Amino acid sequence: MDAKVEEKEMMAIFFKRSRDNGLKITPQRSAIYKELIKAKDHPSADIIYKRIIKKIPNISFDTVNRTLLTFSAIGITNIVEGYGQPKRYDPDMHAHHHFRCIQCNSIIDFHNKDYDNIAVSEDIKKQFTVINKKVVLEGFCNKCRKR
Ligand SMILES: [Zn+2]
Ligand SMILES: [Zn+2]
Repeated sequence: MDAKVEEKEMMAIFFKRSRDNGLKITPQRSAIYKELIKAKDHPSADIIYKRIIKKIPNISFDTVNRTLLTFSAIGITNIVEGYGQPKRYDPDMHAHHHFRCIQCNSIIDFHNKDYDNIAVSEDIKKQFTVINKKVVLEGFCNKCRKR
């Protein structure tokens, strides 16, 4: 998808979800969300804070942190699970999978139709209601492999 179109679409979802959840759309919140959807690296709150402070010098880390948690609570961003602290955020709510580099800890998106359609066995269905499937592959990214 065209990056500009995608950004427009995501901002529309942001406005709608915020309204639906009674969350006031402040310039700070909009700026944090914009920064997040630009990021393809699954940033932590700290990294978003370092980027946003260049645009909004008086914003506090606490505001950024709380806002990101609120975004995940209203379902416009995901928290990337399973990598301990700090939490990493993922604004891409479409089906996609992750490759994690065990050396530099980067989390890289990839798409694979077979993984999207991965079968959930009956005994798992008995235990859980599955609403999202994400495959995580781990190893060395291109940069780390060459070292
Ligand atoms: Zn790496
Ligand atoms: Zn992702």
